[in-house]
Amino acid sequence: MKPVAKASSKLGPAPQVLLRICRSGWAVIVEKIPNAQGTRFVCPFCPISHRVSGPVRGFRKMRRAQWVKLRRVEE
Ligand SMILES: [Zn+2]
Repeated sequence: MKPVAKASSKLGPAPQVLLRICRSGWAVIVEKIPNAQGTRFVCPFCPISHRVSGPVRGFRKMRRAQWVKLRRVEE
C-alpha cells in the first residue's frame, strides 16, 4: 500500500505572493497555500489586522512600478 502524498510543505518552500497593505509602498509577503483558510495578521503599520490567504513571511518595500500591480489585502 502506497502512502498518500501529503501537502507539499515539506518538499520545498511554498510559492510566495506579495499583497499590498494599508501602508503605501509596502507589501506583505504571503505564502501561497492552495486550500488555506485565510490568516489574520497584526499589522506593524496600523492598529488593525488584515486578512490574507496564508502564513505571512515578511514585508517588503516596493518600488512604484511593482506596487501598482499588487492586489489589495482584505481588512
Ligand atoms: Zn495595516
